[in-house]
Amino acid sequence: MARTSRAAKKPDYTDTLANVNTNSRPSELRITDMRVVDIVGAPMHCGLLKIYTNQGLIGYGEVRDGASRNFALALKSRILGENPCEIDKIFRRIKQFGGQARQAGGVCAVELALWDLAGKAYGVPIYQMLGGKFRDKVRCYCDTDVHGRHTGKEMGKALQERMKKGFTMVKMDLGIGILFQEEGTLSAPLGFIEDFGKARGRRGGKLTLEERYTRNRAYDINNIAHPFTGIQVTEKGLDILEQYVSDVRDVIGYDIPLSIDHFGHLGLGSCIRLAQRIEKYNIAWLEDMVPWQMTDMYVQLQQATTIPICTGEDIYLKENFLPLLESGGVSVIHPDILSSGGIYENKKIGDMAQDYGVAMAVHMAESPIACLAAVHSVAATENFMVLEFHSNDCPWWDDIIISKIPKPLIKKGFIDVPDLPGLGIEDLNDDVIKEHLHPDYPDMWAPTDAWDDDFSHDRLWS
Ligand SMILES: [Mg+2]
Repeated sequence: MARTSRAAKKPDYTDTLANVNTNSRPSELRITDMRVVDIVGAPMHCGLLKIYTNQGLIGYGEVRDGASRNFALALKSRILGENPCEIDKIFRRIKQFGGQARQAGGVCAVELALWDLAGKAYGVPIYQMLGGKFRDKVRCYCDTDVHGRHTGKEMGKALQERMKKGFTMVKMDLGIGILFQEEGTLSAPLGFIEDFGKARGRRGGKLTLEERYTRNRAYDINNIAHPFTGIQVTEKGLDILEQYVSDVRDVIGYDIPLSIDHFGHLGLGSCIRLAQRIEKYNIAWLEDMVPWQMTDMYVQLQQATTIPICTGEDIYLKENFLPLLESGGVSVIHPDILSSGGIYENKKIGDMAQDYGVAMAVHMAESPIACLAAVHSVAATENFMVLEFHSNDCPWWDDIIISKIPKPLIKKGFIDVPDLPGLGIEDLNDDVIKEHLHPDYPDMWAPTDAWDDDFSHDRLWS
């Protein structure tokens, strides 16, 4: 009898169903839209990206610092309607539209957002989908700029401030720029350095043809690669650079690893002479002394010094790291997750480097979106050593994202690997973004319908 009366009364599950997350239908998930916003000061010009879906889930990505948002938007018509959980399939379709350095910005931005969506759809953090983590927290090194004319002592004090915040590795710039005003420190074709210093082109606004010509000339001068500038450092110049490093070590001591970047476009011979001069200061790595494509020069450089030689922030895809690794020209690679091909490709690059006995540091001068993408990727990569953090002086950097991850993200030089779905980001803070919009791109998350049906015959063979 009791059974009959229960059957007669139809249960009402309305309240219960109101609390059920109906987003979790991964097999039916589809990409419906892509939008972007450009900000400045975190610390560079960053393009933040959203990929929308038919189930209300939004994935976050980022276009590499200083790259055009159009690299990402050109991919929109090629991924609309796809299931974002099919990450590798989509990546293999779009990777032909990425180039080296910032030209990879669109492909990588999309790849990040796909991983974020897949993680949210299945309710797991990205690192778990990569095979799990090797570490619970990620070590960060702090890059340090000192603007204007400065000394090794001043740089040492700036680095010391980073160390007081808990950073366990540091990096500084040491370029031939500090020699420009010192007589007898550089040999170069007469007038070249002056031309180089004056080569500044205006961006944005309405430019005349003459202003455009000037800007293009500045572009040309800035793109003369190291072997072709004819710049060599003199013994006096080397004395000054060596003294600078010596003064830095006097301030910070020898316990902490110190790496060096941004030497300027000088010839290989000068790079080798400088490297040999500063070996005794125990340098963690010398970064991008020559263009990464010049593999044979990397071999000569690495064979001439005991300091680990490093490059990689402008290399796109695993196969482009291979010649350097095979040659023995590098001891540390330094990919950027927004140029290397993204979260999965970066792990593959690290794993490949490990086979050659090469460590992986990771370049990062971007927003918390790219930072967290790097955190998930390197948490799952065994030979990872350290992640760059370039926003120590940007007080609103953390505020770009809304997340359950405790802030600040970086505590005493480390980031905890988040156990939240996807990247671990719930939303972006539009109030903060609005305050820091790039002046050339005043729109925020504006419709991008014009890119919906952009089409070309993309096949790479006949
Ligand atoms: Mg660098």
